[in-house]
Amino acid sequence: MRYDIAIIGSGPAGVSAAITAKIRNKSIILLGNKNLSDKLMKAHMIENYPGLPHITGEDFGKALQAHLDNLGIEITEKKVSAIYTFDDYFSIQAGTDFIEATSVIYAGGVVQGKSLPGEEQFMGRGVSYCATCDGTLYRGKTVAVIGASDDAAEEALYLSEIVDKVLYFPLNGSHPEADNITVYDEKPKEIKGGMKADTLVTDKGEHSADCIFVLRDAIAPGSLIPGVATEGAHITVNLQMETNLPGLFAAGDITGLPYQFAKAVGQGNVATLSAVKYLATKPKA
Ligand SMILES: Cc1cc2nc3c(=O)[nH]c(=O)nc-3n(C[C@H](O)[C@H](O)[C@H](O)COP(=O)(O)OP(=O)(O)OC[C@H]3O[C@@H](n4cnc5c(N)ncnc54)[C@H](O)[C@@H]3O)c2cc1C
Repeated sequence: MRYDIAIIGSGPAGVSAAITAKIRNKSIILLGNKNLSDKLMKAHMIENYPGLPHITGEDFGKALQAHLDNLGIEITEKKVSAIYTFDDYFSIQAGTDFIEATSVIYAGGVVQGKSLPGEEQFMGRGVSYCATCDGTLYRGKTVAVIGASDDAAEEALYLSEIVDKVLYFPLNGSHPEADNITVYDEKPKEIKGGMKADTLVTDKGEHSADCIFVLRDAIAPGSLIPGVATEGAHITVNLQMETNLPGLFAAGDITGLPYQFAKAVGQGNVATLSAVKYLATKPKA
């Protein structure tokens, strides 16, 4: 099955995009989280959303979820690790699945923290963002894991069942325990290599590894979508939410400051209307 529009991100921008797409009768997949968005849930009190003068993030989230339910839109709880562009469609890697869509709206929110030097250069060549997708490629080998997401420790445990050794660099939260996992209290600084990445440089030294897994909550757009134009942490868009890649649109915090609910929702709507126009120029898949 090839969807008309794949929407990546279930925050206000992605939800808004999905609602308009459904109303415009497009086949869609909405990829994200069951809790919609951590940022949304953390907003204590929202005072500047038109029509809802005094609402908590949690209640706003409940209202968005009710709207999705009302339209029969489900969230597919999967993390996207790459979006590949082909002539007439996109292939989206989510876990071990590849999902096809004629157009894509990227609404993944803004990534906190920069990529490491070398990270984007070696993406897919010794740098991975997904233990489930790529772990088996490193059976019996040594991998380094940079743990910066809530589920990084769990993913590292999964890797420890497959690989020979896991070198674990915790950047937040808990760390995993297993006989073949060594935890380092060191700060990753750079990824180096030749044809492929083979060394993680930290503030205290260098570590050889066959693959460096960088496990963050969100992935820098340049790494996630090869060829997309970016400015720092943001995807470059025009007022129609078009990126430099035909058929790929972006909305919400990922398009730049200001980071605001009303802007995210508005841009999600515009992105879908632009995607609908784009789809009208393409034969139905
Ligand atoms: C504490 C706090 C309070 C705030 N208060 C206000 C306020 O009062 N008023 C206001 O206007 N704004 C406020 N904001 C800002 C507001 O939260 C953001 O502007 C808004 O959430 C942006 O929406 P978004 O959809 O672009 O991104 P997000 O809400 O960040 O949602 C992005 C979604 O994409 C998902 N995602 C990311 N990468 C992937 C991937 N690779 N695969 C699948 N899914 C992915 C994420 O998990 C998340 O679900 C506040 C923010 C914070 C943190």
